[in-house]
Amino acid sequence: MQTVYPFGGSAAHSDPRQKDKTIVGGKGANLAEMASIGLPVPPGFTITTEECVAYLNDGGDFSESLKAAALDALSHVERTVGKRFGDPGDPLLVSVRSGARVSMPGMMDTVLNLGLNDDTVTGLAQSSGDARFAWDSYRRFIQMYSDVVLGIDHGLFEEALEIVKEDNGFYNDTEMSSEHWQALVGQYKGIVEQELGRPFPQDVNAQLWGAIRAVFDSWDSDRAKVYRRLNDIPSDWGTAVNVQAMVFGNMGETSATGVAFTRDPATGARAYYGEYLINAQGEDVVAGIRTPQYLTIAAREAAGAKPLSMEEALPEAYAELARVFDLLELHYKDMQDIEFTVERGKLWMLQTRSGKRTAKAALKMAVDMVAEGLIDEREAVRRVDPMALDQLLHPTLDPEAERNVLTTGLPASPGAAAGKIVLDADTAEQWAGRGEKVILVRVETSPEDIHGMHAAQGILTARGGMTSHAAVVARGMGRPCVSGAGQVSIDRATRTLRIGATELKEGDAITLDGATGQVMLGIVPTVEPELAGDFGALMVWADKLRRMKVRTNAETPDDCRMARQFGAEGIGLCRTEHMFFEASRISLVRQMILAEDEAGRRRALEQLLPEQRADFTAIFEVMAGLPCTIRLLDPPLHEFLPHADEEFAELADATGLGVDHLKRRAAELHEFNPMLGHRGCRLGITFPEIYAMQARAIFEAVCAVKIASGEAPLPEIMIPLVATKRELALLKAVVDKEAEAVFAQTGTRVDYLVGTMIELPRAALMAGEIAEEAAFFSFGTNDLTQTTLGVSRDDAARFLSVYVDKGIFPRDPFVSLDIEGVGQLVELAAERGRATRGNIKLGICGEHGGDPASIAFCEKVGLDYVSASPYRVPIARLAAAQAAL
Ligand code: PEP
Ligand code: MG
Repeated sequence: MQTVYPFGGSAAHSDPRQKDKTIVGGKGANLAEMASIGLPVPPGFTITTEECVAYLNDGGDFSESLKAAALDALSHVERTVGKRFGDPGDPLLVSVRSGARVSMPGMMDTVLNLGLNDDTVTGLAQSSGDARFAWDSYRRFIQMYSDVVLGIDHGLFEEALEIVKEDNGFYNDTEMSSEHWQALVGQYKGIVEQELGRPFPQDVNAQLWGAIRAVFDSWDSDRAKVYRRLNDIPSDWGTAVNVQAMVFGNMGETSATGVAFTRDPATGARAYYGEYLINAQGEDVVAGIRTPQYLTIAAREAAGAKPLSMEEALPEAYAELARVFDLLELHYKDMQDIEFTVERGKLWMLQTRSGKRTAKAALKMAVDMVAEGLIDEREAVRRVDPMALDQLLHPTLDPEAERNVLTTGLPASPGAAAGKIVLDADTAEQWAGRGEKVILVRVETSPEDIHGMHAAQGILTARGGMTSHAAVVARGMGRPCVSGAGQVSIDRATRTLRIGATELKEGDAITLDGATGQVMLGIVPTVEPELAGDFGALMVWADKLRRMKVRTNAETPDDCRMARQFGAEGIGLCRTEHMFFEASRISLVRQMILAEDEAGRRRALEQLLPEQRADFTAIFEVMAGLPCTIRLLDPPLHEFLPHADEEFAELADATGLGVDHLKRRAAELHEFNPMLGHRGCRLGITFPEIYAMQARAIFEAVCAVKIASGEAPLPEIMIPLVATKRELALLKAVVDKEAEAVFAQTGTRVDYLVGTMIELPRAALMAGEIAEEAAFFSFGTNDLTQTTLGVSRDDAARFLSVYVDKGIFPRDPFVSLDIEGVGQLVELAAERGRATRGNIKLGICGEHGGDPASIAFCEKVGLDYVSASPYRVPIARLAAAQAAL
């Protein structure tokens, strides 16, 4: 199997593996693709992800075949460029970059200017005719290589540079002369020697393999692991490595480097969008060190900015760039995120990929591209990440609300966020962990901050552009972000900050508007999102394409209304116990539980009946005409018991029983393993009067709604935690008896179904028999996962992340269904259920019903519907459509 793929120059680009991102990574595939359609790409080669995986599995050894193939590919680059690697007269320099299957911005390592040493630097000075550039490149290389490959703190180098600048009264790097850079190189080498006890490596081949090793190793860096966990990226993919001839954006005033998007990634507007810097190299733009300039005249004027746009400063290179933008969109039929360099007026493409975008932009672009004839409706539906819709369904700032605007930065990631100021990522995580809403405020963010960015409602940075780390990561996470708010100055020592004239301290509240860049004092009210427009259009297409229905898990009329607005087509799970926790009835529930005998229980149940009936009536009014799965009482009874002394005292008052007596009854109900204890249908089996009361309440409510409005919902009464057919048969008889009684009493009949949850492995295995009694199955995959894996859903958080990190589970199985294992039980139960009862209704109501990967599995198994919490309903609609494509 080929381990290395050359690209650019006379390379073939014909092996299908070179188009396959799983083999050569996203960056490698796109570089080859761009070269093959004739775009200006510096030549290079890609080492496959397979080699990374082999290297990591072999404990960090390169295979002989890899070494030979890489040398061969390097000579292809040398021939194409007409320079030799390590040639002291006119050296070839290369970049070494990671490139995983999906982009992981800033998570893994890059080394630029590789191939410089004390000899080649003078060759570079001569061949380029620019000694300043050569020494600047060498010092950049030492700094980057030392940081990435040798593990030396980059702050040491930055400090040395700051001192030189300060001593000379310089403000910008551009004021440094060749001699200054050369002197700094001497200092940098000294730092390396002092830190490592050996000199900076001068052998260019050792440099190359050191960098390749660092890129491979960076796949397993802590920050890459966190990123993978947050983004559900499997740990066994590995990264490819791209080694590519350097082109230089730092060769004077006709050179530049930039990043650009073919459309606006924040709004989706059809306008070239990006930033560039004259006389600068690669990472300068993204690192937020210098504030970049606009690409187009229009963008510069809109921002009222002075420095010339690229369109003005480098008109020819800009025209070429615009031509490339259009070619790329036509070729990839998607918005592209591009890195480019202009070396002495000539444009070079360093990267293209499908650009990250906000949900709003994803929607707008998908809908616009259908109108433009670039893609069809199916493709538009395929384009939008269902999880990204989450960003759109949440509130934005109330336009009517008063705003005390402290400053305005760049609108880096849309949405409104309000919370308490925190000044570092760990504090953000701690405060958020105790339930506080926080805004992370930093000078700029780095990959080390992602856990804090994730924990925060929003992110505010003082420095950095629209493509800075903070901006890119926040957009990806769907967190509102305001970047480059230059008026913000932070004093870490006193944990205070100043925004213009306002002094604030950690813990004070601010609000961000990521759509305008405004930073406001205090908490500004928000408004609900708009569900029409592009969102509505996409949902119409999705609904046409999907086969499965989408229901919601809800137990209040408000949630039901919200879910219907989001497109829910029924209730998939109404957890009736949630109604029992309400303050007005908890005392009655406790009386029922602590009753000594059936008569006592019945007395309490009689009083609960009207309350339950009112609950159901309110829900059925909202859901008239739709199927509603109502689950009878499920959790272990002791969950409802009083804990505090005053709660016992209250109950003693209500029941006339003594506190000691009540405490003893409560102690009697204690269970060692309540999740496997007296819960679910076992409650109904032992205390049928509880289920009878609930069934009666349901039927009385349905009949009342039917009589009042002429339209009833279809109640689907669901028995939880069934393991055997007989359990279900006994409880179905209880339900049927109540139904007949209510029909007789009200003089009206309604259709209804009785079915069961499949939550236990035995139920799945015996599904054929259970289906004789069940009109429907609803897969309760929360419990089914718990009982199949033998992992407690309430205690798993402590160890599951380690399991995911170690690749034992690809994802948290309580979030995304363990398709291999638990999935088999679902599939088997569906088959056996259908074999008994051809028209049995099948659905899923565990958390997995809102998870796109699990939804795709449900489609494959042929379930009739999925059910998700209200905010997840649109996500499920889109995911169900994608699954059906
Ligand atoms: C389940 O077990 O999947 C389920 C939906 O029920 P609950 O989460 O209420 O146990
Ligand atoms: Mg359950």
